[in-house]
Amino acid sequence: MSAEQTRVNLLLVDDREENLVALRAILEPLGQNLVSAGSGEEALRALLHQDFACILLDVQMPGLDGFETAELIKQRERSKSIPIIFLTAISKEEQHVFRGYSTGAVDYLFKPFDPLVLRSKVGVFIDLHRKTAELKRQGELLREHDVAEERRVSEDRYRQLADAMPQIVWAADRKGRATYYNRRWYEYTGQSVELAGEAGWRQAVHPDDLPAAVARRAETLASGEVFEVEYRFRAGDGTYRWHLGRAVPIRGADGGIDFWIGTATDIHDHKRTQQAQRFLLEVGELLGTSLHYVDTLEAVARAAVPSMADWAAVHIVDEGVLRQVALAHVDSQKAVFAEELQLRYPPNEQSAIADVVRTGRSQLVSELTDAMLRKGAVDELHYELIRELGLESLVCVPLSVQDRVLGAITLATAESGRRYDETDLLFAEELGRRAATAIENARLYEEADERAQASRVLESVADGVVLVDREGIVRLWNPAAARITGFGIEEVIGRSITEVVPGWDQLALRIPVTDDPGTGRAESTPVELGGRELWISGSGVELDEGIVYAFRDLTEERALEQVRSEFVATVSHELRTPLAAIYGAALTIRRPDLDLDDELHDHLLQVIADESDRLASIVEDLLLASHLDSGKLRLALADCDPADLVSGVVEAAGINVPTNVRLVVQLEPELPHVRADPNQLRQVIGNLIDNAVKYSPDGGEVRVAAAANGGSVRFSVSDSGLGIPSSEQRRIFEKFYRLDPDMTRGIGGTGLGLYISSELVRRFDGRIWVVSQEGQGSTFHVELPTAAHSKRKRAAAVPG
Ligand code: ADP
Repeated sequence: MSAEQTRVNLLLVDDREENLVALRAILEPLGQNLVSAGSGEEALRALLHQDFACILLDVQMPGLDGFETAELIKQRERSKSIPIIFLTAISKEEQHVFRGYSTGAVDYLFKPFDPLVLRSKVGVFIDLHRKTAELKRQGELLREHDVAEERRVSEDRYRQLADAMPQIVWAADRKGRATYYNRRWYEYTGQSVELAGEAGWRQAVHPDDLPAAVARRAETLASGEVFEVEYRFRAGDGTYRWHLGRAVPIRGADGGIDFWIGTATDIHDHKRTQQAQRFLLEVGELLGTSLHYVDTLEAVARAAVPSMADWAAVHIVDEGVLRQVALAHVDSQKAVFAEELQLRYPPNEQSAIADVVRTGRSQLVSELTDAMLRKGAVDELHYELIRELGLESLVCVPLSVQDRVLGAITLATAESGRRYDETDLLFAEELGRRAATAIENARLYEEADERAQASRVLESVADGVVLVDREGIVRLWNPAAARITGFGIEEVIGRSITEVVPGWDQLALRIPVTDDPGTGRAESTPVELGGRELWISGSGVELDEGIVYAFRDLTEERALEQVRSEFVATVSHELRTPLAAIYGAALTIRRPDLDLDDELHDHLLQVIADESDRLASIVEDLLLASHLDSGKLRLALADCDPADLVSGVVEAAGINVPTNVRLVVQLEPELPHVRADPNQLRQVIGNLIDNAVKYSPDGGEVRVAAAANGGSVRFSVSDSGLGIPSSEQRRIFEKFYRLDPDMTRGIGGTGLGLYISSELVRRFDGRIWVVSQEGQGSTFHVELPTAAHSKRKRAAAVPG
């Protein structure tokens, strides 16, 4: 609508309708919009709703008069500048006019009006109003234009700012389609504007991070919340760096989302430090949990992939040779391949690992070039194989404790495209230090454990082990040493050995001492230690700390040895006597020059038969003893009647009893049966009767008795012969032990009878012992459980 066509409003205020009609008639030709009001109040109301070019106000009105109305109009902001023309019929006085002007009148017209004058005056105000409106409109237009310009300039400025920012900045429409990327984006990704398009970001995000980013984006678009995600962006050179992506919705006046502004901040170093710290923590825990360092190193290598490396390997120097103890790759298939590669081509002197171990200095190869691979390869095949691993970058750090290098840790990248830098190197070195300390701890522990084991061995070993320092003070005295010498550990430790152990000087003189533990030869020697006579075999080794003596007590073996040689003598004698008799008798029979009468002939034959029996019984005893020793003797347990058994044995023995010995049997009536092998029990009782007779050289009574005693039956054989000194009463049951080995009394024997008896009785769950006084005879007792009380109920044959 043009300015001319716009009709303006004119307000006509008069309490008289006829005046209003007259005014309308006068002003009608101006062609404006005439608004009539019949009172001051009505005029004020009209002014609330409309804008007027001019107000024609009657002065005399009931209620609010013209002046009062004008004052109120002037008080209002909206209406204060509307020109007011007062209309009055009465007062032409100066005073009146003055009041009109002071209330803001622009003119005063007196009734009756000259229509032309009135029309032209109002016309001026209409013009004025129009001009003002036009000016205002132009002013607004001008302002609008300025704002648009301003906006354009500021957008440019923002864009420049966004472009200048080191951060990636982008904008997207409400549906998330990218509408703008800043310069940094193009520089970083190397994308062209066309390629970037509305979804260029998808191509840049690391495939592993994409699903999470896409999901988060969808959530954000739906909810209108702030978007925040961590992902890796691929740089133009193919490497990835961690970024923190953030997008905020920009909302319009209606509250709806107009567009999104996003930023991506490079948090790679921060993220890596974080990852490294987390990894080091994890490794710390791993290293702390186990003392088996090979297992631990494997765990460390596994933990390093994929957060720190695509490949992780640990090598240890083992007896001068570099040995791989751990290898890990995200893909176990690849690890197997590398393992084989390693077997086929172990790290040689030229390898980076060998170099690190030799020099103790780390190596960082940010970018492994083909030339490097070629240089490191032993041959063409090796080169091909390493190339297949696709290694990109590596760090190799020593595992060192103080100035010793125990091995090396190698971290390498391939698939991830990651390149190591100085920060990674620092981190890897820290890892190396921690792992090395763990290895060292494990080794120290092993050593301590070995020492602990050694001391446990010393505790339990049967040989005496003693350390005497250079001052002759006892530093170590194991329990066996205490047992052998009879001197307790507390008595001797920390004291001078020659003072505490009388006789040690002698012993030390006879024990050969060398300075090489491998060559010492033990020597056995008799010594008197603390008043006891012992056979000791020992050897010594000289160390820095003093001399370690190891010795064993051979007294018993020595005694046994002696018994054995005595036995040989005895048995030879025992065998020789009957053999001599047999031989003599046989020779006599065969002599052609002798004509033997029948009686003598029979006698000689009888000698041969008797002595053969004796030979047989000796051999029998030897065999039986050896069977008992080897556990081959079988038992045939049965319920035996003690009375029957004793009677039978006594009857058989009676035949050979010399005339000066009287055999007496004393049996309780109704003895309970015992559980035993009857033949073997017969042999036991027979042997006791034989001994009683044999060791009663002056004859006397041999009494054989059997009596019930609680759950057992006690058999007793008493004699009034030589008796046995109490110190020997236990030993006579030992194998080959005889009181009179040299047979000064001319009583022969093998020393096996009581040994065999005691072994057999033991097998029947019984007991055998002797009660005797030297020179006053002996009583041997055998006590066996009754059949009712025997643990061996079944009559089956069981191995003895
Ligand atoms: P042996 O009689 O063949 O020498 P034994 O084992 O039967 O072997 O006895 C061991 C030793 O016990 C005998 O040498 C003897 O010194 C002593 N002895 C055994 N029985 C008696 C006994 N009744 N009276 C005195 N000494 C005995």
